[in-house]
Amino acid sequence: MMTLPAVEVLRPGSVAEAVELLRDKPGARVLAGGTDIVPNLKYGMYETQHLVALRGLSKELRYVREEDDFVKLGALCSIDQLSREASMLPALADACAQIAGPQLRRMGTLGGNLCLDTRCVYINQTYFWRSALGFCLKKDGTLCHVVKGGKRCVAAASNDTAPVLLALGASVRLVSPRGERILPLRDFYLQDGVHNTVLQSDELLVEVRVPVRARSLKQAFGKLRMRAAIDFPALNLAVALEVAQGAVKSVALCVSAIAARPALIRGLEDLAGRPADARVAEELARRAQKQCKPLTNIGVDPEWRREVLPVLVRRTVSRALQD
Ligand SMILES: Cc1cc2nc3c(=O)[nH]c(=O)nc-3n(C[C@H](O)[C@H](O)[C@H](O)COP(=O)(O)OP(=O)(O)OC[C@H]3O[C@@H](n4cnc5c(N)ncnc54)[C@H](O)[C@@H]3O)c2cc1C
Ligand code: SF4
Repeated sequence: MMTLPAVEVLRPGSVAEAVELLRDKPGARVLAGGTDIVPNLKYGMYETQHLVALRGLSKELRYVREEDDFVKLGALCSIDQLSREASMLPALADACAQIAGPQLRRMGTLGGNLCLDTRCVYINQTYFWRSALGFCLKKDGTLCHVVKGGKRCVAAASNDTAPVLLALGASVRLVSPRGERILPLRDFYLQDGVHNTVLQSDELLVEVRVPVRARSLKQAFGKLRMRAAIDFPALNLAVALEVAQGAVKSVALCVSAIAARPALIRGLEDLAGRPADARVAEELARRAQKQCKPLTNIGVDPEWRREVLPVLVRRTVSRALQD
């Protein structure tokens, strides 16, 4: 049995107190639902003396409301709650319903999902397993087992809410002892699997804001996984289309579970004006396959993922256009 290393759990009563604790306890990490950080601590992926537990902030950070032209989602909304209460954003509710299994959805939070650590078949292993292999860039080592000679970790972003919120044009509110900042989610993720967000060590993600106009977009989420329950994505994606009089006005497509940063497919502006039909689905599938290169970073054959990607895009876009 893997045991949890000794850590002191600190329980702030407000966001202000939480970020001060993060500042004053170097190396402290945030504990929300704990569904990812606890197994990772058991695997020896982090060395920390302190966990700053957010449970006491539930009143402050657990809400779904419309305000100032945004749908605002508190970071401590549970994934299960959003699968039921975010029905105004059907792709998000669907993505949440497909995360992990029922118990994990009840414990796991939106903030924890967006800040989820990247995953790789060579890192999500016990310390003993990794030591036998000689470690890697992400923790304790100097090389990457996925990209031979690679200088940067390419572990995969595996959070299912991220592609949806990126396609819907969401932003995030971040709070630190220095104040708060609001960032478009597209500027939140970095192409570095060691630390794939711009979040500072004393910063909390407190809120997600989705423009109210996203409610009227044709949208859908698609996920490839080995089993229809519990598994992390082998691929995930979301599409959001603005359609008027049967023609596309704008489209956003985000594909993830491939690299450290979810990828918004580039250069889709010229699709505006085309009929919103199967041909647009086909074109999006073609462009996504051209821009996305699955690697051996997760335990699913990359060639197979590459073949399935356009199929998943076509099906997901067709579903969005039907609704
Ligand atoms: C068997 C299994 C299957 C899973 N399947 C899926 C899946 O299919 N799809 C998927 O997306 N996820 C999956 N997960 C991962 C996880 O359960 C979810 O991503 C969940 O939403 C994480 O939320 P949490 O609150 O438990 O995060 P935690 O484990 O508490 O935290 C995760 C990370 O985010 C940081 N963090 C948490 N909240 C904040 C905040 N507000 N501000 C700043 N940093 C923060 C933590 O420090 C930690 O680094 C799975 C997990 C398991 C164990
Ligand atoms: S991508 Fe490379 S560096 Fe990153 S976790 Fe995997 S093996 Fe390690």
